[in-house]
Amino acid sequence: MGIIIKGKPVADSITEELIKEVDTLKTKNIYPKLQIIRVGQNESDLAYERGALKRMEKCGILTEVTELPLDITQENFIKQLKKVNEDNTVHGILIFRPLPKQLEEEVIKHVIAPEKDVDCFSPINVAKVTEGDESGFPPATPKAVMETLKYYNIDINGKHAVVLGRSMVVGKPVSMLLLKENATVTICHSRTKSLPEIASTADILVAAIGRAKMVNSSYIKEDAVVIDVGINVDENGKMCGDVDTENCMDIASMITPVPRGVGSVTTSVLAKHVVQACREIQNAKLMK
Ligand code: NAP
Repeated sequence: MGIIIKGKPVADSITEELIKEVDTLKTKNIYPKLQIIRVGQNESDLAYERGALKRMEKCGILTEVTELPLDITQENFIKQLKKVNEDNTVHGILIFRPLPKQLEEEVIKHVIAPEKDVDCFSPINVAKVTEGDESGFPPATPKAVMETLKYYNIDINGKHAVVLGRSMVVGKPVSMLLLKENATVTICHSRTKSLPEIASTADILVAAIGRAKMVNSSYIKEDAVVIDVGINVDENGKMCGDVDTENCMDIASMITPVPRGVGSVTTSVLAKHVVQACREIQNAKLMK
């Protein structure tokens, strides 16, 4: 029988470390700060923002939210973003996406300062994550997967990791992060043939497809570690993951739940990135 591995202990442990680190920075008169840029009042953005604000406060990180009107022009959005880029008191910038249609993400992603881009919007950070350069900021969810594996002492080196999903937000970056830790990585997607056969060769299976409970016991190798990234709604209107947890429990050794799994780790990863950005920006200033 497998065990459920929750996100809260992972988030708490990251937070504890950050509190100490932020305290040390404050003794040098350095105050890490996150600037959130939100366009409109999308409910899921607001929910994530509430969680992020709470986490930053716990860690001692300052935050400011800029809410912009839904009909803001690209020119004005870029003006606002440049202001934040140049603000020396800001170390991390989070822009909620997708942006409204009139704002071209393909243009804006080149404007955000890469050293403050704590959620992997800039192509510079995408490239760094692909290169395995740790000064780049991966998106929060893939990094939360890695923090969860690390916290529960799951050996990655030389293991076969199968990632279900190839999005830029989860599937691709998590594959790169697993590769950096010397896993042999197979990436699957909607055109992959024989998905259960491939998935059931995985020592570590990461499900990020957005299909409620699609992953059942036929996808699981004996004693596999299963990380469920999916956030879906089941037939009873309850939140569930991509994995049918009950069905897989007898075969897997560990499974992250949904809710209370990797999703609970993301805001602490964001906080960690803000502190990392702050440290790197300060170090760069000292080198000048
Ligand atoms: P996405 O952009 O919709 O990508 C889904 C991926 O899954 C695509 O690569 C797609 O393949 C693949 N896929 C879809 N149906 C499939 C199937 N039947 N068989 C095999 N592959 C299939 O979604 P996402 O943004 O990566 O998010 C994935 C899931 O994670 C969602 O449930 C989302 O809500 C959740 N999520 C959770 C967090 C968190 O903090 N926990 C954060 C972000 C996302 P193609 O590329 O071929 O279309």
